[in-house]
Amino acid sequence: MLTDTKIKVHNFSAGPCILPREVFEQAAQAVLDFEGSGLSILEISHRSKPFEAVMAKAQALVKELLGAPDHYQVVFLGGGASMGFHMVPLNYLRPGGKAAYVNTGEWASRAIKEAKAIGDTVVVASSEDKNFSYIPKGFSIPADADFFHFTSNNTIFGTQYKQFPKSPVPVVCDMSSDIFSRPVNVADFALIYGGAQKNMGPAGATVYLLDPNALGKTGRKLSPMLDLKNHADKESMYNTPPVYAVYVSMLTMDWMKRQGGVVEMEKRNAAKARLLYAAVDALPVFQGTTAVEDRSVMNATFVLKDKALEPTFDALWKEAGISGIRGHRSVGGYRASMYNALPIESVQVLVDVMNEFAKKHG
Ligand SMILES: *Cc1c(COP(=O)(O)O)cnc(C)c1O
Repeated sequence: MLTDTKIKVHNFSAGPCILPREVFEQAAQAVLDFEGSGLSILEISHRSKPFEAVMAKAQALVKELLGAPDHYQVVFLGGGASMGFHMVPLNYLRPGGKAAYVNTGEWASRAIKEAKAIGDTVVVASSEDKNFSYIPKGFSIPADADFFHFTSNNTIFGTQYKQFPKSPVPVVCDMSSDIFSRPVNVADFALIYGGAQKNMGPAGATVYLLDPNALGKTGRKLSPMLDLKNHADKESMYNTPPVYAVYVSMLTMDWMKRQGGVVEMEKRNAAKARLLYAAVDALPVFQGTTAVEDRSVMNATFVLKDKALEPTFDALWKEAGISGIRGHRSVGGYRASMYNALPIESVQVLVDVMNEFAKKHG
């Protein structure tokens, strides 16, 4: 077994991202011998009893962690959240109907692009005018829209809704990068979906937490593979689900539950974000890139006021064992992603580096 638990690398990657060490150990063990069966998790049938139990537990944990109403269903599919961008309008937009979206960045823009390919899509608010550095507020959602879509956390630009918009129509949310980071009222959503690789598990699985009563209303003829109702009815077993990604997601959710659930995650994430943003604000060499009230607790974006010093700063954090804080190629600067499994000790290491850098170059 793996015994070296000392943190060697402080992994701030935006996704795929850090998962708990004990999950890596359990996941590694299951590749060699899944639950004492003598078989690897990689070679068992998805219809075997032990895997059916894994799937059932993963589905139950999503609902339990988020406190979803009993009748909600959980579906695990491949294709990423990006496939979700396509499936959402197919499953919720009536032919001749209208979809309402907010544009808060790269992922929201891509979701809008997919919706426009399916039908009439109105963008009710956008923060593109200021390079997506804030969350639009005070917009209205047309009451005749079939659904309203927004992105709860903008992974690339580092903004996050602190309060969710009130909507007169069913709400669909891409929660890829902050699901399980805080409590949400699931009953307010017809659908919450997200790629697993940012707080829930490894890449390969996409989770759909849905109200089955909101499905099957469009009258649109759907291919079975693109029909969420079909996948929900078939318990995510219509075709082979991403077995290993679902298994590792189940382990990660079980870890969250043992830690105290999303209430505890929210507490830890708030402490990490406070620590990092305090350094950004206190040290004049750094500058945050987003409106303060909309700052993401998951992905903190900042720049150096003097860009010429980037190589010097980069050398410092690399030497400290920090990985993955380079900003997205479309934004530049820096992005520290602080997902659930990132320990606050890693944030402290980064803050120490920032202080040291500021002392020399401030
Ligand atoms: C990463 C991300 C996506 C894209 O996920 P894929 O699984 O790569 O398709 C979509 N939305 C948000 C908010 C993301 O952070």
